[in-house]
Amino acid sequence: MQVAQIIVDVPTRQTNNPYSYLIPENLEEQIQPGMRVQVPFGRRRVTGFVIGLSDKTSFDGKLKKISSLVDLSPVITPELLKLSEWMADKTFSFKISCLQTMLPGGMRTKFKKKLLATDQIRDTYPAIFHGQNEIDYDRQKFNNKTIAEILALRKSNQIKVHYELSSHAKPILSRAYKSKLNQQQIDHVLIDVQKRAVGQRRLLKMLYEQPSQTFLQSKLLHEGVGRQVLDTAVKQGWVTETQVRRIRNPFLQPVSRSYPLDLNEDQQTAVNRINNAIGKQTDTTFLLEGVTGSGKTEVYLQAMAHALSIGKTALMLVPEITLTPQIVGRIRSRFGDQVAMLHSAMSSGERYDEWQRINSGQAKVVVGVRSAIFAPLKNIGLIIMDEEHDSSYKQSDTPRYQTRDVAKWRAVYNHCPVVLGSATPSLESRARAMKGVYQLIMLPHRFNNHALPHVSIVDMKDEMAHNRHILSKRLSNLITDRLEKHEQIILLLNRRGYSSFIMCRDCGYVPQCPNCDISLTMHKDTHTLNCHLCGHKEPIPTVCPKCHSKRIRHYGIGSQQLEEQVKDLFPTARVLRMDVDTTRKKGSHEAIINKFGAHKADILLGTQMIAKGLDFPEVTLVGVLNADSALQFPDFRSSERTFQLLTQVSGRSGRADKQGEVVIQTFNPDHYAIQLAKTQDYEKFYHTEMRIRHLGKYPPYYFTIKITGSSPSEKQTAYEMHQIAGFLRRYLTNKAIVLGPTPKTITRVNNRYFYQIIIKYRQEPKLKAALDDVLVKSQTKQQGGLLISIDNEPLDFM
Ligand code: ADP
Ligand code: ZN
Ligand code: ZN
Repeated sequence: MQVAQIIVDVPTRQTNNPYSYLIPENLEEQIQPGMRVQVPFGRRRVTGFVIGLSDKTSFDGKLKKISSLVDLSPVITPELLKLSEWMADKTFSFKISCLQTMLPGGMRTKFKKKLLATDQIRDTYPAIFHGQNEIDYDRQKFNNKTIAEILALRKSNQIKVHYELSSHAKPILSRAYKSKLNQQQIDHVLIDVQKRAVGQRRLLKMLYEQPSQTFLQSKLLHEGVGRQVLDTAVKQGWVTETQVRRIRNPFLQPVSRSYPLDLNEDQQTAVNRINNAIGKQTDTTFLLEGVTGSGKTEVYLQAMAHALSIGKTALMLVPEITLTPQIVGRIRSRFGDQVAMLHSAMSSGERYDEWQRINSGQAKVVVGVRSAIFAPLKNIGLIIMDEEHDSSYKQSDTPRYQTRDVAKWRAVYNHCPVVLGSATPSLESRARAMKGVYQLIMLPHRFNNHALPHVSIVDMKDEMAHNRHILSKRLSNLITDRLEKHEQIILLLNRRGYSSFIMCRDCGYVPQCPNCDISLTMHKDTHTLNCHLCGHKEPIPTVCPKCHSKRIRHYGIGSQQLEEQVKDLFPTARVLRMDVDTTRKKGSHEAIINKFGAHKADILLGTQMIAKGLDFPEVTLVGVLNADSALQFPDFRSSERTFQLLTQVSGRSGRADKQGEVVIQTFNPDHYAIQLAKTQDYEKFYHTEMRIRHLGKYPPYYFTIKITGSSPSEKQTAYEMHQIAGFLRRYLTNKAIVLGPTPKTITRVNNRYFYQIIIKYRQEPKLKAALDDVLVKSQTKQQGGLLISIDNEPLDFM
């Protein structure tokens, strides 16, 4: 008999090692590493990943049997299985969470909770309820539905059915409504004309009162309108039914084919160097450092084309959703249907479909955000990370991996090069390039030698003396000028909401979140004060709860208020706002970008979402309204972030023939990050910042680990964290520096208190053992409420 090694979905230290289970005879032929199975565990049944197979001979004692298969073919490739081992080790997390992270969202869903939410049940979970090949779809029940019913339901979900009033019904209803009848009279009219039952009348009213006068079937059913009512209304001609087939296509718009462009000399050199490494069994990392607008994308495209031409695949990562609509358009126009796309704004169904195309080998090019680094792509010839410095490449939840590290691991496995691209590389990557660990490729000029934008700094301390407006004189004059010339403008304000806080003018009271140590942000559209950390919402008070004064004012402008003020000042300008609040709905992000791209708006304002990667040739003015927002954070990376953000957003200006202009408003005009962003001097910034990092013993000179502990009691958190710090100081060699514990900048979030310990080291042989010990101890203490998390190479110390 055969035995399978299984990582079960029970995240504890003990289960980080595989458990052995017997394979039932009828599954012996089918089972392969990388498949999910269901197994008995204690008194429960849990899911697990098969990571290896062996003969029973080496086991004595009793083993339990696998209950059933979840997948009919592996969902984790042999490469990704290996990667999960390395990653669990590197990120101090459980193997099960690494394995789960590798699957697209829809497949991670727990069966018990949301069967309907997962897609392609038949392909994915056919044998879940039985440990056999064929199952009875019509009998096997789950959540009181047979699988056949579930599949049928899913199928019908693919077709959307709309209902609207028929042309016959519309005038009758509109007459009834226009003559301002009250509800009773309307009911009466409807009875007269139709003699319909209550359900019918309700349906007609619902349809009429809905502004679009159309309803989705699912919505109507949800509102309690019965299928019979619908059918009768259709049959009698009161309502018309339309069916729209829903196609799960993540590329919302078709794109036309594009062809490789003629490269300039710098681009050609870059492409040659990269292409020379593709297919050569080397895992060279290139750092492609190219100023904004230098044409990095064309270099990526031609290198990817080369990888495809020798029969390999290519993986390209971009940060967050910001870049995808424009960049994906460019990539797809070059490579057509070979491209699969993976990002967070897609529905889980779309992601699943794309994932399936990659896993089956149909898709040869993958473009996606952070998690796409786990795409089950085989035979990789090239990995690209655009905007490699971007903070979205670091996952903030467990497993806290840095995508760059995973990319390098996969490059070694696949013997392929990695290209890290940026106008403002992370200090880590630049330092490695200087040491010769990476190969540096430069694109020092904008394409077509377009000039970099002209940047001016406005000192807001001076400005405040004569102008209380958030827009400086200089910036608003330039806006007027651009509006007259019919050119476009981007305004960056890194704060969402209406105002950052409200305060009582009489007693100074500022409403705080009841669960967190942070003041509440005012949102005018929803008339609420919101906590941006825990989601708490409450109404905006009109009277001070402390002194009953009515003089409550708001302070600190957020993007909502900026929009209001800009519309006030420039009433003829067409303004678009892009921030978390305006891009919640699927497709809304893309809609804003497309609208601005088509010059259907003059001003695009928003939070840092607008800073990255967008390419709008008609933008000739960029205004940064509070350049200090990132500087204010008590963190060693705040200068680097500020420099990157300012350089990136400035790079949006003057990308075509017209000279671009940038205005940076700041209270710290002399700060080196702001001064060097003005001259866009990355080189000088790099050297200045490296000196500071050296003095402060920060990365990239030192490696860092952050240990965070939290519990509902501040006293307990502090106590336990002191114990841990004491242990680390005793245990580690004196080469490691242990700082803390200190309360985190925002100590209380969601009624838990957070403290942290920072370890800095260059070489520390006992580190791994020490941290393992911390984790083991914390597991036994977890009952007491202290939760420990370890972040290897954290992005911040806050
Ligand atoms: P980056 O990503 O480096 O900021 P892009 O790749 O967006 O720059 O290129 C900037 C602009 O130059 C784009 O509008 C792009 O179409 C154009 N461009 C880049 N390379 C070429 C080329 N070889 N031929 C023609 N246009 C190019
Ligand atoms: Zn008050
Ligand atoms: Zn809160």
